[in-house]
Amino acid sequence: MSTLNLNTYAKNTWCIGCGNFAILNAIRLVITELIKEGTPAENFVLVSGIGCHAKIVDYINLNSFYSLHGRVIPVATAIKIADPSLKVIGFSGDGDSYGEGLEHLLFAAKRNIDITMIIHNNRVYGLTTGQFTPTSPSGYKGRSTPYGNKEKPFNPLELMLASNASFVARGFSHGIDLLKKIFKEAILHKGFSLIDVLQVCVTFYNMYEYYDKRVYVMENHNETDFDQAMKKAKEWDYNSDTKIPLGIFYRKKEITFEDSFQTGIISETIDRKQKIYEHLMKKNL
Ligand code: SF4
Repeated sequence: MSTLNLNTYAKNTWCIGCGNFAILNAIRLVITELIKEGTPAENFVLVSGIGCHAKIVDYINLNSFYSLHGRVIPVATAIKIADPSLKVIGFSGDGDSYGEGLEHLLFAAKRNIDITMIIHNNRVYGLTTGQFTPTSPSGYKGRSTPYGNKEKPFNPLELMLASNASFVARGFSHGIDLLKKIFKEAILHKGFSLIDVLQVCVTFYNMYEYYDKRVYVMENHNETDFDQAMKKAKEWDYNSDTKIPLGIFYRKKEITFEDSFQTGIISETIDRKQKIYEHLMKKNL
């Protein structure tokens, strides 16, 4: 890959106005910037799951892997462990990672594996035409809930903070400036980063007007204060009609899974070599 042209020949099949376009444009610009700043294009690996979001890897000319439903994180984790120098970016939907693959998400946060997860959270199954997901609000009427969703959504940011995620943020697919800023910080963050993007599905759950009235970008927020991050995360529960904070909620420095894993192997090897050396010395060999 000698040029910076990240476009591909694939025909884009997303609906006109879909929030996925903002994520695609923002990530392309961020990766282009990072390549210009010195990260080789070959060092990026994109992983996607199953859902409308997953097509994003068809539209970016980089190494990529289409995984199974809910299995973005196991694939991304394996790639990162095999070669920790790679920048591994996972794309997943709310049905994909907050439903089918939830346990993988929790354990990735718990382990602090250095991958970035971008969740296209449109709060509906778009590809299968409008069923409710774990983040659909109560009362949501769709194909599988014609009388309204009887469950409450869960709050993924609260869940991620409680699971030890070392970088937690929320973006919105109306405009790309904030997305660009958050994506870049997340990719440069050493550790597990999760960005929940309120990605509007214009066809099955058009929330542009709703979000436009409520979102605001956090200012004077201390990103290193866990309690403040939790308080901000709880400000909107994905169900009530309150204001919706956007931006980076939390970040902390902590040893990553792959670093501790490698340190373990290296120190074990050194220990073993030392023992062999001592044994040979004793035997005067
Ligand atoms: Fe986007 Fe929804 Fe269309 Fe899927 S169905 S491409 S999420 S607008």
